[in-house]
Amino acid sequence: MLGQVLADNRPLIDVDNLKVHFPVRGKGLFGVGTGVVKAVDEVSFRIRAGETVGLVGESGSGKTTIGRAILRALTPTAGEIRFHLDGDVVRVDQLRGRALTRFRRHMQLIFQDPYASLNPRMTVRDIIAEPLECLGDTGGRAAIDERVREIAELCRLNVEHLRRFPHAFSGGQRQRICIARALVAGPKFVVCDESVAALDVSIQAGIINLLKDLQDATGVAYLFIAHDLSVVAQIAHRVAVLYVGQVVEMAETRDVFFGPLHPYTHALLSAVPTIEPESAFAPVTLAGEIPNPARPPSGCRFHTRCPYAEARCRAEVPQWREVAPEHFVACHFAGELPLARHG
Ligand code: SF4
Repeated sequence: MLGQVLADNRPLIDVDNLKVHFPVRGKGLFGVGTGVVKAVDEVSFRIRAGETVGLVGESGSGKTTIGRAILRALTPTAGEIRFHLDGDVVRVDQLRGRALTRFRRHMQLIFQDPYASLNPRMTVRDIIAEPLECLGDTGGRAAIDERVREIAELCRLNVEHLRRFPHAFSGGQRQRICIARALVAGPKFVVCDESVAALDVSIQAGIINLLKDLQDATGVAYLFIAHDLSVVAQIAHRVAVLYVGQVVEMAETRDVFFGPLHPYTHALLSAVPTIEPESAFAPVTLAGEIPNPARPPSGCRFHTRCPYAEARCRAEVPQWREVAPEHFVACHFAGELPLARHG
């Protein structure tokens, strides 16, 4: 079903003015840095408890960097990441050392490639149990075994096969092992980074359904990073569209897919294949390449490729504003542009 609507409105994660900049080493004397790549620049959004937020955009737009910054796999340059946990608010961006390690049980990652992300020398039982052992769970081997069996069953793995090694499993089964490993410690939040991109379409559908069932069963929230909008449509409650390190549009999935208000979202949607051409968006061809985030364009970053760009777009950064209820856009002319479908 396109655009599930979430009844629960409790916040889980607030991302406020997140910046992740990487220094660029110059070729001058002593290799002194001469600039920065603004991989993520002033990004703000909220993820609710039990929600799936889809994060879409072209390669190099900063999707993975945002996911890793929230998980603190890398340190943000600036901004706040607040995690709401049992009535407390934890500043994830400020966690360090053992406090950060302990906090990792609440947030996990499912990788893209189920072949490369499993250690071929470990049994499936040991792979799934590894996070519990790293987090120092002290229940003993019997308790860990019981938890591994429980999560393996939830992930539709045959518990008789836990002594086998990863090579004995298909791509879809391996991704279910990765999901079990991510969920075994009971996280509240999981980043799915292109987690079905390496799988056949029929297997993708099974994994998407499994992720949704696990969300219903456990209340986990997902940040679902993908370049394939048709996959995001199947699982996300809301969608954020990223362009050159900034979110340009965010709304409930149905609103983004049926009524985009930013020309870049419109262009992405026009490239999605459909079996109902009469209901598709008119094709949009974007000129040029995605700009270099070390030298982003002035004003609206999309003005170099936008078919509706005017002089104001080159000079003035568009404000992030709520154009319709819960529908946020960064475009000077949002709501006034002819971003229509055929028919
Ligand atoms: Fe296009 Fe201007 Fe809107 Fe940017 S602000 S998306 S350039 S119309």
